[in-house]
Amino acid sequence: MIYLDNNATTPLDPRVCDKMSEFLKEHFGNPSSLYPIGRVVKEAITESRETIAQALGAKRTEIFFTGSGTEADNFAVRGIFDAFPEKNEFITSAIEHPAVMETAYYLERKGKKVTFVPVDAYGMIDLDQLKKAITSQTALISIMHANNELGTIQPIEEVVKIAKDRGVLVHTDAVQSFGKINVNVNKLGVDLLSISAHKVYGPKGIGALYVRKGTNIMPLIYGGHQERLMRAGTENTIGIIGFGEAVRILIEKGDKDKKHIEKLANHLKRGIEDKIPKVKFNGHETERIKGTLNFAFYGLEAEAILLSLATKEIYVSTGSACSEDSEEVSHVLSAIGLRPEIARSSIRMSLGRFNTEEDMEIVLRELPEIVEKLREISALDIDED
Ligand code: PLP
Repeated sequence: MIYLDNNATTPLDPRVCDKMSEFLKEHFGNPSSLYPIGRVVKEAITESRETIAQALGAKRTEIFFTGSGTEADNFAVRGIFDAFPEKNEFITSAIEHPAVMETAYYLERKGKKVTFVPVDAYGMIDLDQLKKAITSQTALISIMHANNELGTIQPIEEVVKIAKDRGVLVHTDAVQSFGKINVNVNKLGVDLLSISAHKVYGPKGIGALYVRKGTNIMPLIYGGHQERLMRAGTENTIGIIGFGEAVRILIEKGDKDKKHIEKLANHLKRGIEDKIPKVKFNGHETERIKGTLNFAFYGLEAEAILLSLATKEIYVSTGSACSEDSEEVSHVLSAIGLRPEIARSSIRMSLGRFNTEEDMEIVLRELPEIVEKLREISALDIDED
């Protein structure tokens, strides 16, 4: 199998799997219990929190575990609006993941004003529009660090600079950037930042929100005293242990992964552009997570390409995993100005740590043949932009 859908989820790193199974066999204690079998679990959680904080340049007490990246995004946005009920404006971008997008629609239903800052043809936000949207009523700006469909990296440091001049808090969804580029909360200057374990070779169902010390935020989930009263519920201990181990590996070999993935992706991109006529690269040439490649294949339905590739055990995506089974055109591809038929002809290939040069050669052999055959069958007039 050739897995090119690492932005949807990554395979569990075998070392993470080993660590989790050892832990699962030996430790069942509740971290809130005061006797030794609970304490040992509590200590392991603290160690994971410390590792994640270290990777982000944060303090241990600024990391709050959540049930997913989605929950971390909800916690950030709703938690800030609950803490500042007198403020009624939210600013985000037109290309956010549904975790932020749907939370923005929820705020609108609650009577808040939301501004969706537009992006250019490469998926880069319009900073002038962002600046214009800020008012004294703005509680929060949430702009994703890297986009899941295009890989485009937003200028978060500039967003923060604009926001700080006006005293507005900034959240960034770093679920797709963490582990792929340097993500340091102090360099970025953000107040809140979301991450998720299953995008960095860790388990599913565990995420974290970084909250800068002193930030006024309310919990999303009420109950027990876990996570210093900020996220009630007995901890997903095994998930937290796996997340910590995944991040420990990132700290150890993340740079090597980056170089490896970039080399493979550059080779694949050039190969597709050389071998396949009438393709369009969607995304930014330089300000991009290099392992994310999104291409439109004029005249074709992306789903037909995806299914043909799947018969060869090559797995890609037609957009974000969350909208895979919907008929709608991706809101991200619409936002960069693609006509619906071009958006519907687009596939995303996202590379990861376990891809090899041989994988790229196989894709560069199979994909051009598939595209040619499908175009013969459809025999459509191909209309390029
Ligand atoms: N934000 C972005 C940018 C994502 O790509 C994803 C997952 O696809 C999420 C948030 C949601 O993370 P999770 O799957 O952990 O809920």
